[in-house]
Amino acid sequence: MLKILVSACLAGYPVRYNGAAKPTRDAWLARWRAEGRLVTVCPEVAAGFPTPRPPAEIQLHRGGADVLAGRATILDNTGADVTALFIAGARHALERALAENCRYALLADGSPSCGSTFIHDGSFSGRTHPATGVSVALLQQHGIRVFADSQIDELAAEIAREPSC
Ligand code: SF4
Repeated sequence: MLKILVSACLAGYPVRYNGAAKPTRDAWLARWRAEGRLVTVCPEVAAGFPTPRPPAEIQLHRGGADVLAGRATILDNTGADVTALFIAGARHALERALAENCRYALLADGSPSCGSTFIHDGSFSGRTHPATGVSVALLQQHGIRVFADSQIDELAAEIAREPSC
């Protein structure tokens, strides 16, 4: 069966930095859950971050691929360097995806881990820019197609085209 890696916060788990979930009430997600397709992961919790935790952003106007290549760091809003934990979380997400044979992922946009169309720009000012989070960058480098929560209909269309979904 085709399986989908999904951000735990989208699946309803209260694991975000602020202690909340980001539940997606979309009918597709409910259907995939009922079919047993969802593989939930929170890269940050898997890496050992507590919940709640200080917000963190990739520095500065960079993205997840830069972090993986050693060209950018991730700081939280206290100034602590949390780069290594974010990379560990990304590796965990990749291991989960590979172990469960997930070729698709549906991840929460805007996150320094899970963002796929935008992330915050590192200034802690609320500004965003088009870039990916660290987990997304690592998943994409291994051929896994990542969709944002705003792109769930596009993901559903892709899955419907699969010969043996
Ligand atoms: S790391 Fe991803 S799964 Fe975890 S709370 Fe952030 S967006 Fe959700």
